[in-house]
Amino acid sequence: MFAATPPSSGPKPSAKSSPSPAQKALQKMGLVRPIDLALHLPLRYEDETRITPLKNAREGSVVQIEATVTACDVQLHPRRQLVVAVDDGSATCELRFFSFYPSHLKALAVGAQLRIRGEVKGGFWGRQMLHPAFRAAGGELPRALTPVYPTVAALPQAYLRRAVVTALQRVEWAETLAPQLPAPPMAFYGQNGLQPLPSLRDALTFLHHPAPDVALATLEDHSHPAWQRLKAEELLAQQLSQQQSRRERDRLRAPVLQPAPATADALPLHEQLLAVLPFDLTAAQRRVGAEIAADLARAVPMHRLLQGDVGSGKTVVAALAACIAMDAGWQCALMAPTEILAEQHFAKLIGWLEPLLAVHGRCVAWLVGGQKKKERAAMLALVESGEAALVIGTHAVIQEQVRFKNLALAIIDEQHRFGVAQRLALRQKLAAHGMEPHLLMMSATPIPRTLAMSYYADLDVSVIDELPPGRTPIVTKLIADSRKDEVIARIGAQVNAGRQVYWVCPLIEESEALDLSNATATHADLSEALPGVSVGLLHSRMAGSEKKAVMAEFSAGRIGVLVSTTVIEVGVDVPNASLMVIEHAERFGLSQLHQLRGRVGRGAAASACVLLYATNDSGRVGETAKERLRAMAETNDGFEIARRDLEIRGPGEFLGARQSGDALLRFADLATDIALLEWARAVAPLMLDRFPPLAAQHVARWLGGKSDYLKA
Ligand code: ADP
Ligand code: MG
Repeated sequence: MFAATPPSSGPKPSAKSSPSPAQKALQKMGLVRPIDLALHLPLRYEDETRITPLKNAREGSVVQIEATVTACDVQLHPRRQLVVAVDDGSATCELRFFSFYPSHLKALAVGAQLRIRGEVKGGFWGRQMLHPAFRAAGGELPRALTPVYPTVAALPQAYLRRAVVTALQRVEWAETLAPQLPAPPMAFYGQNGLQPLPSLRDALTFLHHPAPDVALATLEDHSHPAWQRLKAEELLAQQLSQQQSRRERDRLRAPVLQPAPATADALPLHEQLLAVLPFDLTAAQRRVGAEIAADLARAVPMHRLLQGDVGSGKTVVAALAACIAMDAGWQCALMAPTEILAEQHFAKLIGWLEPLLAVHGRCVAWLVGGQKKKERAAMLALVESGEAALVIGTHAVIQEQVRFKNLALAIIDEQHRFGVAQRLALRQKLAAHGMEPHLLMMSATPIPRTLAMSYYADLDVSVIDELPPGRTPIVTKLIADSRKDEVIARIGAQVNAGRQVYWVCPLIEESEALDLSNATATHADLSEALPGVSVGLLHSRMAGSEKKAVMAEFSAGRIGVLVSTTVIEVGVDVPNASLMVIEHAERFGLSQLHQLRGRVGRGAAASACVLLYATNDSGRVGETAKERLRAMAETNDGFEIARRDLEIRGPGEFLGARQSGDALLRFADLATDIALLEWARAVAPLMLDRFPPLAAQHVARWLGGKSDYLKA
């Protein structure tokens, strides 16, 4: 069934000195090497393998006929058009062209015998085709379906088809796997029972030119064995690249950081911290803490992702890791994506650590973008001398002027908001010592297992899968925005009972100005509807100091209702806030909603989250939108929500800065291809160990020079 031969290869794209527009277009689309073209798959197919007698052509179907022209006239009414009558001996049909050239008249002259392809329309006046494709009749019929490729205006379909045919002949089709390695799971039953997957060559040849008897549905849903092969190889390339980069990293050196032993007169720093904390660690926090400590004690740089739902207590775990490093005389950096978040880390960690560090004459430094020159200079000096044991801040921490004395551990909060370049910059901060710092990345967006297994395969992952005790579960309600007034009344009651409320307006991505006016208007509306209640406003355009001032007022309980755009998305910790209203909830991703919702329910009071969804004029919201939001009411489990988000929205949301288009899987789908993913994970290390040239060849074939994207 994979024997369908491609149509004979046409003229090759010529290799003249100055590239033609079509060649330039190929370049621009990244279709450079033969394998790139071979992997450029058709959008759909056309069946030109048979001639249909006109009398059998069903209305609405696209058919190919061979017929003789019996009349050819230009009509002027109701508009200028060329009308051609044809007859194939079984029936007649009328062809209409609303735009045509003299060449049409010549080719379509009475008596011409043509092969014509188009959609048959019925009608009172008999069969018709509008603007059908045509050429002279006769000639061999192709034996395979004709591919229709995604392309651009400068690159004609016919040119691209020829280029692909040529490319398929030029690819060096060396076997991907040595025979000793396990083949991808056999995925289909052929005529003779279970069949192995076709080779990559056969699979691609088939997908470009499938036999006409193929079940098109299996091509569309990518379940066809040829598709399985393609997906298996793509996943294998991804695994090889990631596991390779992990091996490379294992050859690098990092400071060995061991918890100091307790002595008769002093406890080590991390134990001192534990002693001042107002709570006991959860079992999950202790477990991940031990995992991190084990990494730090190795001479190889740690590359670990600490995952935990909002409120699961990642900060303490990070602080304990920092203590181990600082106790050994090294420096730590903690970076957060926004100033507000950094501020909170700063406040909390300072409260915990400063007194402990002060005993040893060390301190905590603070680096953000909008700092005063003088303050900044002072901080930089502390960092360079090593007096600052801990450096907290935003992206400012990794700027070039920041010179650490001996940075041993870098902690990145909300890691998906940082780019590859920034992580690389951090890793270079210990270059003077010929080493790399340990890297701990934190994320409150739980990454579904399949994603962790694929895109994050080069990371170690620790999961805090337990919330601290005493949290009251958040009740989530879906309410149509036509009932906004009731919600506002409820807010009044909450505030009167001494509680505080968040009101979140969605970020309007296309227009920051609109976003702002929207939040401002909501602020005015709520102020008016809730007389006597102090309503605050926080939005992305405010200066850092203004934001800080508003947050401080809210934390202190002097603001009852805080209207905000998503700037509060992460990190805000006000235990007295017990109600969150999210407007236009349908515009948010589920994981984002989950993060937002995590801002309430931090204290002992029963907390609620109201998702207001917009309805259209007939009072209905799109069914899918509501179905999606329902997941929020059904579960508080961040992993379950992330899994559904992945199903609905694909991996882009999770990858953040990793979301370089090149790094995304083009063919495999993590929601359906778990068996293939597991196979690729198992085979990649065997291949790297036993057949390194094959592994290198495979990565080069799939990723070319792009594999670096995956490595930082
Ligand atoms: P996140 O994982 O979202 O960053 P945080 O580290 O901000 O969570 O912790 C959320 C809140 O829970 C903080 O107020 C923190 O002090 C508190 N907390 C952390 N660990 C515990 C614990 N084991 N018991 C009780 N409270 C805790
Ligand atoms: Mg946090």
